[in-house]
Amino acid sequence: MNEVTTIDRTQREYSDAVKKALARKPQLYINGEWVDSSGGETIDVEDPSTGKVISSFVEATDKDIDRAVAAARTAFDDGRWRNMPPVAREKMMHKIADLILEHADELAELEAIDVGKPKGMAAVIDVPGAAAHFSYMAGWLGKIGGETQAPYSMPGGMMFAYTQKEPVGVCAQIVPWNFPLLMACLKIAPALAAGCTTILKPAEQTSLTALRLADLIHEAGVPAGVVNIVTGYGHTGGDRMVKHPDVDKVAFTGSTEIGKLINRNATDTLKHVTLELGGKSPVVVMPDVDVAETAPGVSQAIFFNSGQVCVAGSRLYAHKSVFDKVVEGMAETKDFWAPRASLDPDGHMGPLVSKEQHERVMGYIDAGKRDGASVLMGGDTPGGDGYYVNPTILTDVNPQMSVVREEIFGPVVVAQRFEDLDEVVKDANDTQYGLAAGVWTKNASAAHQIASKLKAGTVWVNCHAMIDPALPFGGYKESGIGHEQGRLGLEAYLETKTVMMKL
Ligand code: ADP
Repeated sequence: MNEVTTIDRTQREYSDAVKKALARKPQLYINGEWVDSSGGETIDVEDPSTGKVISSFVEATDKDIDRAVAAARTAFDDGRWRNMPPVAREKMMHKIADLILEHADELAELEAIDVGKPKGMAAVIDVPGAAAHFSYMAGWLGKIGGETQAPYSMPGGMMFAYTQKEPVGVCAQIVPWNFPLLMACLKIAPALAAGCTTILKPAEQTSLTALRLADLIHEAGVPAGVVNIVTGYGHTGGDRMVKHPDVDKVAFTGSTEIGKLINRNATDTLKHVTLELGGKSPVVVMPDVDVAETAPGVSQAIFFNSGQVCVAGSRLYAHKSVFDKVVEGMAETKDFWAPRASLDPDGHMGPLVSKEQHERVMGYIDAGKRDGASVLMGGDTPGGDGYYVNPTILTDVNPQMSVVREEIFGPVVVAQRFEDLDEVVKDANDTQYGLAAGVWTKNASAAHQIASKLKAGTVWVNCHAMIDPALPFGGYKESGIGHEQGRLGLEAYLETKTVMMKL
């Protein structure tokens, strides 16, 4: 028997701060206040480490959504935010970042018991990352501006012409459950920096940290109606936000299927739309690598956050000369990634977020086995009440299998051999997705050549899933439209106006 079977997956006791957050009355944050829903429905919060219900939050009605949109519309139109001096807005955004860091421990724990991710992981990735989006975007406040431009076809001195940047308006922002706080901040920060107002809806599986974020945004002094946080289901509340005539822009992160639906639904009112969608990211391991470094790196690329990452390195292509050593090295990380309860300080991987997700991932693994894949590691669950899946490596796969083609969103990697560079680039690009890709090599020239040939919005070399607020992030093909982060991420919330004055 290996160590994995002896792990005690009992969840630890929650802290007092978290117990308090779980006990709060289900309400929505609209127009700077905590308000009751117009309906009485709530949605349960489950701890995926135990499967137990630990709290509940509001299932927003159409009326609630309309109220939030009206608050955001008024707050935008009367200029209470966009006309405030940039220096004052910048300070408030830094204050939000500071408050997130002040509450880091509570937020990391809330995220851990809501998503199932290890608290230690949330403490070093999700929470500081969330704060960094606010501080990075705050830095743009004094730097947003247009330019003067002499007309091309008119005589000099005839016209004074310039462009100016203006906020897009009221934003509907919809985020998924894998990085709830980080995604909420990634959405709200550029909207605030641009001068927009927003209604944000976290995912129905994971709304706890977005609700706490509303408290912190309030405490930082952001005026009423500028940020509104509503909870509820996507097909009801989310849909209402997307179709609402008073919303100017939709920003969505989630599945490609829902992203396409949202894009269609936003078309009638021709809203600005940015979409960050799914992926099936290839990781190419070249023959020259140091296996001792690469095997843990490519394991992390897939097993981090239980593989519930849009950029997860879920298709491994290792050169035939190193394939066996790389997958053996990955298999040696089995105990490191063995799933544990999210508050276990020794954990590096937790359960999946929900029963539904657990069934989905196990369904893919079973389909892979039925299709003839070999299970080199995992392929099963360790048992217990939570939604655990063991880290899984499948080999002997082919490009027709669903495990190779479809986004599993779980700790499952399909490992394949390659011989020749052109062939691997072709296979890596043989997907509907184009979110991210990885290359592992010591040969800088090969790295750049492969990076330029991979059809993906981000390519990592000798690392994976390195995301930074200053670097744009966006998908090729069916992985998205537009960018978040960096200057491009800010510009997605700005309109450009041309003014021409005859002199
Ligand atoms: P996943 O498949 O990862 O659960 P989804 O794409 O279904 O992700 O959901 C991501 C977010 O989109 C969630 O906040 C969800 O509530 C929301 N959502 C789902 N369906 C719709 C819809 N039809 N309109 C607007 N938002 C939606």
